[in-house]
Amino acid sequence: MQALDENILEKCRSAKRVVAITGAGISAESGIPTFRGKDGYWKSYRAEDLANFESFQKNPILVWEWYQIRMEICRKAEPNPGHLAIAKMESLYPEFHLITQNVDNLHPRAGSKNITELHGNIFTTRCTKCTYNSTLGSDSFPLPPICPNCNSILRPNILWFGESYDIKVLDDCIQKLRSADLLLIIGTSGQVTVPVYLAEEAIQSGAYSIEINLDRSTLSKKVNVHLQGSASEVLQLLMVK
Ligand code: NAD
Ligand code: ZN
Repeated sequence: MQALDENILEKCRSAKRVVAITGAGISAESGIPTFRGKDGYWKSYRAEDLANFESFQKNPILVWEWYQIRMEICRKAEPNPGHLAIAKMESLYPEFHLITQNVDNLHPRAGSKNITELHGNIFTTRCTKCTYNSTLGSDSFPLPPICPNCNSILRPNILWFGESYDIKVLDDCIQKLRSADLLLIIGTSGQVTVPVYLAEEAIQSGAYSIEINLDRSTLSKKVNVHLQGSASEVLQLLMVK
C-alpha cells in the first residue's frame, strides 16, 4: 500500500463526527471466514441456508451445531490491528460511533465502546417464546439449549436473513450518520441492503466517505474514495490525529 493522498489525510485530521461501518472483511485477518469468501461454506451449506428462522425451525440442532463451531472460531480469534485502530479512534475524535455487521465480539474485545452491533452478538442467546436472553459462556451445553423460564428452545440472538431490524436502533444510527462529517466503510461487500442504506444516509448528507476493501463492492462507486487494501493496513495509515 502506497502513502495516502494528503487530501484524504486532511479529511481524517479535520473530522469531528465520525461513523465507521464494518463488515466481515475486518475480521478476516483474525481468521474468521467471511460469508462470501471461499471459506463461506460449512459442510455443503451456505450461510444463507442456515442463518434463517425457517431452517432453525426445521432443524435447530443443525443450526446450533454451525453456531457452536463459529463461536469456537470467534472465541479463539484475537482482535487484529484494524479492530484496535477503530477502538483507538474513539479517543481521537470528539464523536465517534461504530456500526458493525459482525457478530464475532472482536470489536468489543478490542475496546470499542460506542458501538451498535447491528446483527447481534454470537455469544448471546434468546428464547423463541418469552423475553429471556443471556450471554453464553465457554461451557458446552446440550443442543438445542432450553429456556430456563418457559422450556422453549433458545436461539442465537442474531438477526437472521429475512428478519426485521429494531427500528429504534436504526433511527439512532441514522441520526449519527446524518450528522457525520467522515464515514469509513470497511470490509463489507455491500450485499446486505440495510448497511448499504445506512452508508448512503451519511453520503447523501455530505459526509466525506472512504471505503476500505480488498476488492470493489456495491458501494465503491458511491464513495469519495475507495482505498484498496487490507483493513488493518489501511486503517493504521488513516490514524493521523
Ligand atoms: P461479506 O462476507 O459479504 O464480504 C466481506 C467483504 O470484506 C468483501 O467485500 C471482501 O472483499 C472484504 N474483505 C475481505 N478481507 C478483507 C480484508 N482483510 N480487508 C478489507 N476487506 C476485506 O461480509 P459483509 O458485507 O459483512 O456481509 C456478511 C454478513 O454476514 C454480515 O451481515 C455479517 O453479519 C455476517 N458475517 C459476520 C462475520 C463476523 O462476525 N466476523 C463473518 C461472516 C459473516
Ligand atoms: Zn422462554
